[in-house]
Amino acid sequence: MVEIKTPEQIAKMRAAGLVVAEALKACREAVAPGITTQELNDIADKVITDHGATSNFRAHHGGLWFPGVICASVNDEIVHGIPGERVLQEGDLISIDCGAILDGWHGDAAITVAVGEVAAEHTQLSRVTEGSMWAGIAQMKKGNRLVDVSRSIESFIRRQPLPPKGKWGIVEGYGGHGIGTAMHMEPHVLNYVAGRGKGPKLIPGTVLAIEPMVTLGTPHSAVLEDDWTVVTTDKSWASHWEHSVAVTEQGPLVLTAFDGGRAELAKLGVTAAPDPLA
Ligand code: MG
Ligand code: MG
Repeated sequence: MVEIKTPEQIAKMRAAGLVVAEALKACREAVAPGITTQELNDIADKVITDHGATSNFRAHHGGLWFPGVICASVNDEIVHGIPGERVLQEGDLISIDCGAILDGWHGDAAITVAVGEVAAEHTQLSRVTEGSMWAGIAQMKKGNRLVDVSRSIESFIRRQPLPPKGKWGIVEGYGGHGIGTAMHMEPHVLNYVAGRGKGPKLIPGTVLAIEPMVTLGTPHSAVLEDDWTVVTTDKSWASHWEHSVAVTEQGPLVLTAFDGGRAELAKLGVTAAPDPLA
């Protein structure tokens, strides 16, 4: 049921992951007041093409066509925003999600970026979301169960001081996923613990996209008329961070981080696996 990769296949996924990392880096550097989300999309598109990769986003998903190579989700948009004519404004918070296919293997990652100066609570929102992602990634170790990842993400968020206004909402109904020869594979990765199931054992060769979505209010969402954009039902702002991560014999390998996750995992006392392409 869960696709288990050989070390050779993980090396190929690392190559795909690095293309995604490059695309997101280029987008992050371009984010500024005045740029449109379409322009960000086109920057990512060029990086993907220049690396000989293709987009896994600009495709049919369950019969619905997504026209972008990124999802650009601004402020109260949580995920799946369609890039277009929207002009970013000072103080906006944008989540950029991007994926690529290289040599048949998929990568998928997301970042949240401040547009100019943003309110302190929005900086905090992004930090908490990113921190919860790393807390989940740190559990991507041989012998753990899937629920250990979910629990670690949730408990990280729950132990943060509450924001001055609002609270932390862990978005329900969306989560991470297995990834490999397709972008969305078994298992689904909840960002919180639900029920008593422990989920599959994390054995070397398991690759998961870990992607918490956190709001400053509700855990509830709605999909706009465009059939794609997922927004909070109370207009609270949201953040989304994501990495594709392999469980290996030598620890977690963050396929979509330039350093394989080494620096952030070290802060949590976890040693990242050596980069198979280094
Ligand atoms: Mg994604
Ligand atoms: Mg994903």
